[in-house]
Amino acid sequence: MKKIFIIGNWKCNPTSLSEAKNLFLSINKKIKKKRKIETVICPPFVYLYPLAQLNRGHKIVLGAQDTFFEEKGAFTGQVSAVMLKDLGCKYVIVGHSEKRAHGDNDEIINKKIHILLKENLTPILCIGETKEEREKKQTFEKIKYQIQEGLRKVAKKYLHKVIIAYEPIWAIGTNKPCPPESVLTISIFIRKTFSALFGLKKTDKIAILYGGSVNADNAKRYVEEARVNGLLIGSSSLKAEEFLKIIFSFY
Ligand code: PEP
Repeated sequence: MKKIFIIGNWKCNPTSLSEAKNLFLSINKKIKKKRKIETVICPPFVYLYPLAQLNRGHKIVLGAQDTFFEEKGAFTGQVSAVMLKDLGCKYVIVGHSEKRAHGDNDEIINKKIHILLKENLTPILCIGETKEEREKKQTFEKIKYQIQEGLRKVAKKYLHKVIIAYEPIWAIGTNKPCPPESVLTISIFIRKTFSALFGLKKTDKIAILYGGSVNADNAKRYVEEARVNGLLIGSSSLKAEEFLKIIFSFY
């Protein structure tokens, strides 16, 4: 049975620990542990430890929104993959367009992926085109480049451990989700790219997510029609009721 990933990216929200606890508990209380569904929440770093203490029944898996690419040392302000692992994180988002906009390039992203795989954490590599690139029909080229550079020198045996999140930048936080039929074309292209670049034969093992203005009304269509393995959810993951509706739609 293939798992469906429902991953909430809280970004820089909420602004207090008590709000973070309330949101987390209202989700934790209502969901059941299901073999078929992996519910992941990626809160800001500072909430990871307190939320891990509240994770009754381990129904939610914790993830982080980023990592640094060195293990430890004189790197003021950084948080390493070893630290994230120690706190119980299993997943780490890398290459989110909001991080790319603040300086993360493909080389840095590649270094982060290497350290995560070394620490046995699952990288969620975000890729996707801007509105301008889409209009210029450069989507495939951009995605291929981001996969090629992001996964440079990753050993073949680790490639299926990486989750790919297709997040067209123009669809993030805009209420303009990418139509499921376009996401289907992209998800097929991503699998083809894995065989073309890395010679993978069984590309159905690669988990692909869609992210960009997902809500309770459209969530299921992406899994059913675009045949992705799950969703990366920003603003809808900050509203307990909406996020729960999305999760329950897969029960
Ligand atoms: C995101 O930033 O990863 C995201 C998908 O945001 P939203 O769901 O708000 O579009």
